[in-house]
Amino acid sequence: MILVVGGAGYIGSHLVKELVKNEEVVILDNFSTGFRSLVDSKALLIEGNLGDTAVLNDIFTQYPIKAVMHFAANSLVGESVQEPYKYYENNVAATITLLNTMLKYNIKNFIFSSTAATYGIPNVDIIDEEQPTNPINPYGRSKLFVEHILEDFAQAYGLHYVVLRYFNAAGAHDSGEIGESHDPETHLIPIILQHLLGQREKISVFGTDYDTPDGTCIRDYIHVTDLAKAHILALNALLSGKKNTAIYNLGNGRGFSVKEVIDTCEKVTGIKSKIEYTDRRPGDPARLVASANRIYEDLGWKAAISLEEIIGSAWKWHKSQKS
Ligand code: UDP
Repeated sequence: MILVVGGAGYIGSHLVKELVKNEEVVILDNFSTGFRSLVDSKALLIEGNLGDTAVLNDIFTQYPIKAVMHFAANSLVGESVQEPYKYYENNVAATITLLNTMLKYNIKNFIFSSTAATYGIPNVDIIDEEQPTNPINPYGRSKLFVEHILEDFAQAYGLHYVVLRYFNAAGAHDSGEIGESHDPETHLIPIILQHLLGQREKISVFGTDYDTPDGTCIRDYIHVTDLAKAHILALNALLSGKKNTAIYNLGNGRGFSVKEVIDTCEKVTGIKSKIEYTDRRPGDPARLVASANRIYEDLGWKAAISLEEIIGSAWKWHKSQKS
């Protein structure tokens, strides 16, 4: 049985959809940012906090958990600057409690959702895992702290872990049953699509003077089902003993500017958008594009879904959500 912490969130719920095909799954979620509608009916749901030892004791006593996958984090850069306590409390302190309780029950396999934000402002166009980590906001730091903790726990307590550093997760499941939901929504693709559905008056492009060909920020967008598949391979690598510790980037290896993403959304939907160009958003590096060669070489994983397909799947989901 696998415990998925944060299985009612955007990325966690897409992972669960893949995982339930082969494993029994327990979800622990407190619905602070997750949604009941995203919970897979094939998984067992426990409502609670990941930093609550009593809840964790109950789960680890009752169920034969062989690995824990951790998706339950606060993940908004801007909010982390305003409310760092929340980020260090939930993303770091509660995660230490989770790890400590796992170890008490001799559960030693852990998959951790990390982020490209751990790199800060990179000096290279394509970022591989050898690049220095210099996060520029509390969110990125909270994830990097846990990465260091995992390294130390592996040394001292024999924890086995895989860290997955996501670039920009996007898109929706092909079943049409689940997709990207945040409240409030801050992410580029859902915001564009909500605008194209008439739910927002316009799209604001944050900054046009970046050192990129069209002046807008470049990101590496990766479909959430591609991400989910990487997690399954990472889990199997831990469970089979193929890997004891690893850090992998998850991206497409191809960047798109904010303008290119808007153009692609217009192309996929056939609808023209209204754009407002505004100042930069604090904390945004100009360009974040992954090299995901390491996970390809180690586990054979490669992103397979294109930006058009990502947007197409998200469009189908957003249309179905329109009330
Ligand atoms: N962005 C934008 N307008 C928006 C939302 C986002 O111009 O309404 C830009 C943002 O500045 C960044 C890119 O789109 O360069 C992706 O932002 P998002 O919040 O989706 O993901 P992040 O890269 O912050 O994880």
